[in-house]
Amino acid sequence: MGEALPGGHAILNHNSERIHVTQRAIKEMDMRNFLRRDRESGLRQIKPEFVDIMAEMEYGTRLMRELGSDFSGPAVPICTCPDCRRLESDLDRTLTPDEQLCRVHEESEAAVRAVRSKRLQ
Ligand SMILES: [Zn+2]
Repeated sequence: MGEALPGGHAILNHNSERIHVTQRAIKEMDMRNFLRRDRESGLRQIKPEFVDIMAEMEYGTRLMRELGSDFSGPAVPICTCPDCRRLESDLDRTLTPDEQLCRVHEESEAAVRAVRSKRLQ
């Protein structure tokens, strides 16, 4: 599975929780050097040491509105990058937004469990 998923792109927040954000948010954070690569998951991660600085610098911006004050990300990000637009046409439109949200949560919980169990080894 690639990083582009229906409803955004997976990254890790400062607590190593998998969240889904738009490509635009990733680019903005990348440009400001707020991201690093998490070696275990291969995902980009918001640098924990930057969270306070970032919240202050970006307060009130589109980026912070998307990430939320706790950096938990939007429930269902609306990403308009070419990858997401292509995937969107494959989305199962019979799912209600709540069901889709559920699915994203299940995926992220499974990913967190996988990362945690690796760390315990
Ligand atoms: Zn996208």
